[in-house]
Amino acid sequence: MKTIGLIGGMSWESSAEYYRLINQGMKARLGGHRNARSIMATVCFEEIKALQHDGRWDELGVLMQQAARQVQAGGADFVLLCTNTMHRVAPAIEAVLSVPFVHIVDPTAHALRQAGVSRVGLLGTRFTMEQEFYRGRMLERHGIEVLTPDEPDRAVVHDIIYNELCHGLVHDAARAEYQRIIGALQAQGAQAVILGCTEITLLIGQQDSALPVFDTTALHAQAAVAMADTREALSG
Ligand code: GLU
Repeated sequence: MKTIGLIGGMSWESSAEYYRLINQGMKARLGGHRNARSIMATVCFEEIKALQHDGRWDELGVLMQQAARQVQAGGADFVLLCTNTMHRVAPAIEAVLSVPFVHIVDPTAHALRQAGVSRVGLLGTRFTMEQEFYRGRMLERHGIEVLTPDEPDRAVVHDIIYNELCHGLVHDAARAEYQRIIGALQAQGAQAVILGCTEITLLIGQQDSALPVFDTTALHAQAAVAMADTREALSG
C-alpha cells in the first residue's frame, strides 16, 4: 500500500473529512483493520486566509511548498492538497515535489465526463469561481464548460464558506441559500453542480440538490485510495 500525503488545515474541518474518507475507503477495499497509510501536514488557516484575501499568492505558494516538502520528507508516495482554492498555486507545489501531485480538478472532471456532463455549475470560494486556474483546467484539459453564480450569489457562497463552514458551523439558512443558487445554475443550463470547496460537503448532499452533485472532497479522496491500493500492481 502506498502512503498518501495530505496538505491540510484549509480548513481542518474538511481535512478531517479527507482523513475519514481515505480510511473508510481503504477499509472498504481491503477489509479487516486495513486503514490507509497517510501523513498530513497541517497549516494555520488564519494565516492562509489573510494572505488569500490580500492577493499574496506568491507567499502562499511558498507556504504550500514548505508543507509539500514536509509530507514528501515524511514518506508520501503522492500528494493531495485538501482545498480547491489553494490549487491556485499548484504549479509551485509541483515544482518542489519529486512524487506525483493529484490535482483536485482531474478526478472531478473524470467523474463528470463519465456521467456525460459537459456544462457544470461551480460553487466555491470567490477565488475558485472567479480565477482562471480552476475553470481553465476544466475546459482546456477536460472539455467541460463551467458556469458560476452571479456576483451577489458568489458573495453569498463565499461568505458562508469562510464565516460558517470553515468554523464547522452548518446552518439550515445557509443550506437554503445554496439550494436557491443551485436552482439558478440549473436555470442557466448547468447539468450538474461541483461542490468546489472542500467544506461544502458538510452542508450539501445529493438529497439537498436539484442537480446531480459532484463532491470534490469525496472524489479527491476516492482517487487517493485507488492510487494507494497497489494490489493490481503487485499481482500484475
Ligand atoms: N476548503 C476550501 C476550498 O476547497 C476553502 C478554504 C481555502 O481557502 O482553502 O476551496
